[in-house]
Amino acid sequence: MIVNVKEIVERKKNDLKDRVKKLEKNGIVPKLAIIKASDDKASEVYIGKKRNLCKEIGVAEEEYIFDENVSQKDIISTIQKLNNDLSVHGILVQLPLFKHLNENYVLDALEPKKDVDGLTKLNFGKLVTGEKGIIPCTPKGILTILQSLDVDISGKNVTVVGRSILVGKPASLLMLSKGATVTVCHSKTENLKEHTKNADILIVAVGHPGLITKDMVKKDATVIDVGITRTDDGIKGDVDTFEVDKLAKYVTPVPGGVRTYYRSFFNRKCNRNC
Ligand code: NAP
Repeated sequence: MIVNVKEIVERKKNDLKDRVKKLEKNGIVPKLAIIKASDDKASEVYIGKKRNLCKEIGVAEEEYIFDENVSQKDIISTIQKLNNDLSVHGILVQLPLFKHLNENYVLDALEPKKDVDGLTKLNFGKLVTGEKGIIPCTPKGILTILQSLDVDISGKNVTVVGRSILVGKPASLLMLSKGATVTVCHSKTENLKEHTKNADILIVAVGHPGLITKDMVKKDATVIDVGITRTDDGIKGDVDTFEVDKLAKYVTPVPGGVRTYYRSFFNRKCNRNC
């Protein structure tokens, strides 16, 4: 079955709207600050989507846009001001940054409790140690989809194809923390099919359209396609969706599946105990 992710997203949005209303009753208007320091066109689109989502669910949002003359010191000092501003609950640094800026250095200036993307070393470390922290948005979205479908994770074989810091690695750690037996594959993996075919849950985050074909999937598996590639024929995922659908229990579509802009803004405790 091709999963109707839009339905899951709508349910999640309604849940977030309710949570915002509850906060408002206690005099708290959640606020997200977004920092952009690049001329990346895709980032503009992503920020626009986040802006609209905030508006829709009632979260206040403000943007700090820097041009190419910005120094690392300027960005860090803005982050520090936002870290100390009690009216700001979440800070999101839109990646990529201008080439002269060091992403690791900038991200590590974030107060971990306000790091809505879960990219500071502290939040990433908590994923490793199994402590409660903020989970990066794409793995969190994958977990939300699996939970919405009532797919068991504990004790199951999960294969993750891709080992990036943004998707593959945190998704693997998250699945491990949920009791799965996890295999991580990448460009050096020999005989990829042997690993994908063994998976009850197959998560693919590579960026190679059509990499995963029907013969590489176990019958009744759940297949989560994270890949997004723009081609002359439109946006494509990594999975041959319609063929795989004949064999799998669930497969997520692309486009309309796992979304980049769906942030884990509420996946944390507010720093004012809200
Ligand atoms: P990335 O940093 O380029 O990582 C790609 C991973 O795929 C690497 O670990 C790489 O292995 C592995 N790989 C490459 N070729 C392979 C092959 N033939 N077989 C097995 N593994 C292979 O990309 P990313 O940031 O993780 O993103 C992956 C895809 O997901 C992209 O299409 C991106 O646009 C999309 N994405 C989607 C969302 C969403 O919300 N839907 C969010 C983020 C990204 P090595 O490590 O060995 O190089």
